[in-house]
Amino acid sequence: MEVDCAIDSEYADEIAALLAPPSPQAVQDYFDQLLRTRKCCSLKVEHRGQQGKGVYANKVFEEGELVLKDQMLVGAQHSSNKMDCLVCSHCFRFIGSIELQIGRKLYFESLGFVATEGNSHRNQAFSHASGESCSREMSEDEDKDTGACSDTDMKDKLILPNDVIESLMDGHLVLPCSEKFTLPSVISCPGGCEEEHYCSISCAEADWETSHSLLCMGVKQDDSRRNALLKFIEHSNGTNDIFLLAAKVISSTILKYKSLKLSHVEDQKQLKKSNGVDQSSFSLLLDAWKPISMAFKRRWWECISLPDDVGSKNETSFRMQIKELAFKSLQLLKKAIFDKDCAPLFSLEIYGHVIGMFELNNLDLVVASPVEDYFIFIDDLPHPEKEEVDRITRPFLDALGDDYSICCQGTAFFPIQSCMNHSCSPNAKAFKRDEDRDGQAVITTMRLISEGEEITISYIDEDLPYEERQALLADYGFVCKCQKCVVEEP
Ligand SMILES: [Zn+2]
Ligand SMILES: [Zn+2]
Ligand SMILES: [Zn+2]
Repeated sequence: MEVDCAIDSEYADEIAALLAPPSPQAVQDYFDQLLRTRKCCSLKVEHRGQQGKGVYANKVFEEGELVLKDQMLVGAQHSSNKMDCLVCSHCFRFIGSIELQIGRKLYFESLGFVATEGNSHRNQAFSHASGESCSREMSEDEDKDTGACSDTDMKDKLILPNDVIESLMDGHLVLPCSEKFTLPSVISCPGGCEEEHYCSISCAEADWETSHSLLCMGVKQDDSRRNALLKFIEHSNGTNDIFLLAAKVISSTILKYKSLKLSHVEDQKQLKKSNGVDQSSFSLLLDAWKPISMAFKRRWWECISLPDDVGSKNETSFRMQIKELAFKSLQLLKKAIFDKDCAPLFSLEIYGHVIGMFELNNLDLVVASPVEDYFIFIDDLPHPEKEEVDRITRPFLDALGDDYSICCQGTAFFPIQSCMNHSCSPNAKAFKRDEDRDGQAVITTMRLISEGEEITISYIDEDLPYEERQALLADYGFVCKCQKCVVEEP
């Protein structure tokens, strides 16, 4: 397969400018601004010599204190998880009702869709996933059983009649006590697609403006673009849904560019009056690209970890295959959303770096399910109310089986969290509290942190032996020299 991308040679200078690492000062300014707009004055992102950037405490943090709630730059629910959980496509809150969540899941199961762990792609196993889990600490059993629904599970499950499932979905069947777990109503996509749903008009509009208007497959999209998008999405679903995230990045950069251009045209009218200097279109594209320029490091096919079943002598051909896969995906995306003004964004170099950014920096997106809360609540009811309610709800729990507690799962990129460096004895962790019911990353401290101290998290299971830790961290491209590693180094 030909992986020479014409755009790469035609726009070599522009691509080089987009990929040039920002100066330490530019990095500092960007994060100062970001922390200010988020009113997050207790943290500071600093660029310190060889270490690169890191997050530092601007005050003393007590043990167990909230350090950061980080709004994602871009994220997506795993395609396979969409059958299990209906969430807002922008903030990832659960929406609809307890009945709708249960009915919808059983409906998809009755059609033969089987719940999965949602994370079927090997590369994503290496995202910064280890720390973040559903809000409550699950028992060992639950933890293991979440997701994967094997044949034996299916046999154990009670099958409910279709009309019962339907009445759950259409709101005719109301479960006892479900009013204690009300969820926001489902708002449809303004473009008329059936794929995305929202918790509010403001989430629908924000998603539309940031990326979905280019990627929507609804009736308002023109036919040729819709068909091209469909091919791109099918390819992503069949290979790796990291491409869907990359598409969101490209789309949001194009849309940001367009809005900058629009306000720039307005400014120009003013400038002409005052004889000011014009700013070229390309510098607007650089501006739109800035949040991404802070994050990428390496090309995907260079940083992806070698799967266990690929020996080192096949490494070159494996990496070439990955590059070809990215090229194929890029061509499909280009057919769907190409924009002449933003042509350099459709180069393989840029695409490779964007996907590489997800490969190296992602945190799993996890939001605990209210359906789990609901059944726990029923289980905790006092006697004899519990028995009464249980008589009604038991068949639904039996129909759901172990999957009743499946949480919303996806992948996202969080700009501030991604600046946090690794330590094998971290002082903070990504951990959702009971009240954290949306897609933001939540970082809390594990011990007292003094002012000026660096805030660290663990990218891996820090309880593993030294050798295994270093092997896992090698996938992130560094050798860990944390205190624990220095002590344990043989
Ligand atoms: Zn929302
Ligand atoms: Zn849509
Ligand atoms: Zn270490």
